[in-house]
Amino acid sequence: MDMRLSECSVAELGRLLRERELSAAELTEYYLERIERLDPAVRAYISVLADDARSRARGADATLSEGAGGPLTGVPAALKDNICLAGAVTTCASRTLADFRPPYSATAAEKLLRAGAVVLGKLNMDEFAMGSSTEYSAFFPTHNPWDLARVPGGSSGGAAAAVAVGMAPYAIGSDTGGSIRQPASFCGVVGMKPTYGAVSRYGLVAFASSLDQIGPLTRTVADNALVLAAIAGHDPKDSTSAPNEPGDYSAGLAEGARGLKIGLPKEFFRAGLASGVEKAVRDSARRLESLGAEIGECSLPHMDYAIAAYYLIAPAECSSNLARYDGVRYGLRAPAADMIDMFQASRSAGFGPEVKRRVMLGTYALSAGYYDAYYLQAQKLRTLIRQDYERVFAAYDVILSPTAPTAAYRFGEMSDPLSMYMGDIYTIPVNLAGLPAISLPVGLTDGMPVGVQFIGRHFEEALLYRAAFALEQSVAFTARPALTEVD
Ligand code: GLN
Repeated sequence: MDMRLSECSVAELGRLLRERELSAAELTEYYLERIERLDPAVRAYISVLADDARSRARGADATLSEGAGGPLTGVPAALKDNICLAGAVTTCASRTLADFRPPYSATAAEKLLRAGAVVLGKLNMDEFAMGSSTEYSAFFPTHNPWDLARVPGGSSGGAAAAVAVGMAPYAIGSDTGGSIRQPASFCGVVGMKPTYGAVSRYGLVAFASSLDQIGPLTRTVADNALVLAAIAGHDPKDSTSAPNEPGDYSAGLAEGARGLKIGLPKEFFRAGLASGVEKAVRDSARRLESLGAEIGECSLPHMDYAIAAYYLIAPAECSSNLARYDGVRYGLRAPAADMIDMFQASRSAGFGPEVKRRVMLGTYALSAGYYDAYYLQAQKLRTLIRQDYERVFAAYDVILSPTAPTAAYRFGEMSDPLSMYMGDIYTIPVNLAGLPAISLPVGLTDGMPVGVQFIGRHFEEALLYRAAFALEQSVAFTARPALTEVD
């Protein structure tokens, strides 16, 4: 078979499978073998579900040989390890859930399985999705395939690294404050955070429920639209799931950038933005202009408060969501003399330092006497931030912005939590407003990939895909990490 299957898009693989030029069993073996060879260096996977994948591949081949099946039938995929898959260990990269086997699958996972996906395994992340580098995984860090001395970003670092190096044709991640888009930018892949409510959160282990969204990481924009269509849609099991039917995200891809009104927020170009990233955004704007888009300056005046608001709201919700890990129903139970000691010992042993920091922050922010000063203020800021976007979207169709202020950094370089939090400046406001946003790679800076982000109105994912596709075709980003060459 073709030596470069790892370079094929999801759409191409689907076509090869449907035309029976390749069997799902062969494709699955190809990927399992690549994981075996590459993952000891990258460490993207927490668990590889080889037997399960082989049996699903046989099922897909049976479907395909009858001439049935859709674009994802028989195509391998991988899931971030906070997305439940019935019977498979779902750890959230936490000691607390190291042996947790969920009795059901997340709706997004279930939809993929029904579409014929072959799940290769579960991917590494920051513990409970809290972090930006995958260094907070309780098990091991994932390495950036472009430079193993650097982080892949986070918290969906395993997902971005696996897709970047061809250890999965696509992956499903989650984004609470940037966790799909920032690792996509750091690893040179495409990552979409859909509108809040577009993809069911049922079976996604909750971190901050008013911000969490599931979305795809892929190598191309077209693949991303294809995968999102498979996982989006209303789900009665998630009360925050939107009633909207998912649009046809692929239909308008080729319409081009002509006539699109694109806003560049002036507040985004400031100290802390690396020059290579600023250049990537400005070059992208020029390209879009030459493709017929109208570029203008816009303003998001409350951006400066977004990080402060997020780091109150997200920890507050996390302190409440994580209260369930008490050693009684879920996960790790530490031996202790009595019940209170057991709660304390189990939570002390089960959670890592970042999770503990957030639980303490959140509990404090919600406690009597401090609620008005912190949590309530943060919610008011959230409203102001949402209104900033509403004003911009009255005049512009999409916003173009950096995804992250820098390219991937070296391990240990962001040892201070506050400087790590500052790296979320361009992604967090989008979650606070519940908007969709996509990051796509547009170039390299010092040998590392850089992404830019398009932000759109609620449920206008199709327009984001159209803008991103136009830019992707114009940029033709073909650089690959050297490791990819291993075949
Ligand atoms: N980096 C952010 C945080 O640490 C976002 C994480 C996420 O989106 N899950 O909370």
